Amino acid sequence: MSTTTPTSATAAGTDGGPVRESAAHAFEVRASDTARSDAERAALMEAPVFGTVFTDHMARVTWTADGGWRDHRVEKHAPLQLNPAAAVLHYGQEVFEGLKAYQHADGSVWTFRPWANAARMAASARRLALPELPEADFLGSIEALVRTDAAWVPSGAETSLYLRPFMFASETFLGVRPAREVEYVVIASPVGPYFSSGVKPVAIWVVQDYHRAGPGGTGFAKCGGNYAASLLPQQEAYAHGCEQVCFLDAVTNTELEELGGMNVFVVGADGSVSTPPLNGSILEGVTRSSVLTLLGEAGREVHERPIPLAEVRAGLEDGSVAEVFACGTAAVVTPIGRLASGDFDLTVGDGETGAVTAWVRDQLTGIQYGRAEDRHGWMHRLI
Ligand SMILES: *Cc1c(COP(=O)(O)O)cnc(C)c1O
Repeated sequence: MSTTTPTSATAAGTDGGPVRESAAHAFEVRASDTARSDAERAALMEAPVFGTVFTDHMARVTWTADGGWRDHRVEKHAPLQLNPAAAVLHYGQEVFEGLKAYQHADGSVWTFRPWANAARMAASARRLALPELPEADFLGSIEALVRTDAAWVPSGAETSLYLRPFMFASETFLGVRPAREVEYVVIASPVGPYFSSGVKPVAIWVVQDYHRAGPGGTGFAKCGGNYAASLLPQQEAYAHGCEQVCFLDAVTNTELEELGGMNVFVVGADGSVSTPPLNGSILEGVTRSSVLTLLGEAGREVHERPIPLAEVRAGLEDGSVAEVFACGTAAVVTPIGRLASGDFDLTVGDGETGAVTAWVRDQLTGIQYGRAEDRHGWMHRLI
């Protein structure tokens, strides 16, 4: 077991605030002719269900193998025109990102560590043989879109504007090779608190007969294909009364990896905190990296180490495992109250939100919503 400070290649060391370059000025704003009225927008934003309501515009940049990145614009949020032979529809050459814009009490709007998302999207693109979008274009697309759709940034407690940058092979071609035409698009969606009735522990199904990723595969890349592979096991989880799936490693089928879309942490009764190491098949979460930093600074032992399922099962039975939580941008930090599979069904602690889980959630949201000091330069001002 090694005690580590986070050494994440994409997240640590890439925070940098004002010195980072943005190409927001390069985005030409072509205003939508169907923008919603103030009253329509207010009705849509009242209690939006995650991912169902979208703003009036989207940011977009087009890439061709010959011309590179061009035509930076903000345009009407509208259906995309694709030939049915567009490569993405056949071979899944696609990557995406997820981050949020938060309104602070003084009306300013900020996002959290967008440089890490830019770097991760470039790493994902490399793996999927897609072109890398320069960081300045990534930041610029976020800034230009949020400024255009500023009225869509909600201001209620725990609300935010969820931003979904994505990139896909748009070329009309059925041959198997990297596309020579690619679209990068950012859409935005106002979201309420992920849990409408407050943060409640979720039940997790540990899936033992499917994997989401393997050595040399695409697990570290944020690509749609990984999600496609997680949907069937996710159905199995629902069928067993669980909200989410936890995957095990594909080599030994004995160690925790992560959930379908969130990283996982285990808190010992001794106060130490562990999360599986970045082994190539785990997605390097920005939230994961931030949680490691905050817990480490608070004086806790934090370990990035393989976590055998058998250890967690035994720990839940004898009390040496106190808390388990998941983390990611959408739901921030989610307590896990129950861990089940075909051959076990265990309650975590007393099934309620643990103290470390609640503390780290509070710390992180405090920084994101401007209630706590941003000591790391993690926040980037958009408006
Ligand atoms: C996006 C994602 C996460 C969480 O990453 P964050 O940067 O914290 O939002 C974790 N696991 C998977 C598989 C993901 O796609």
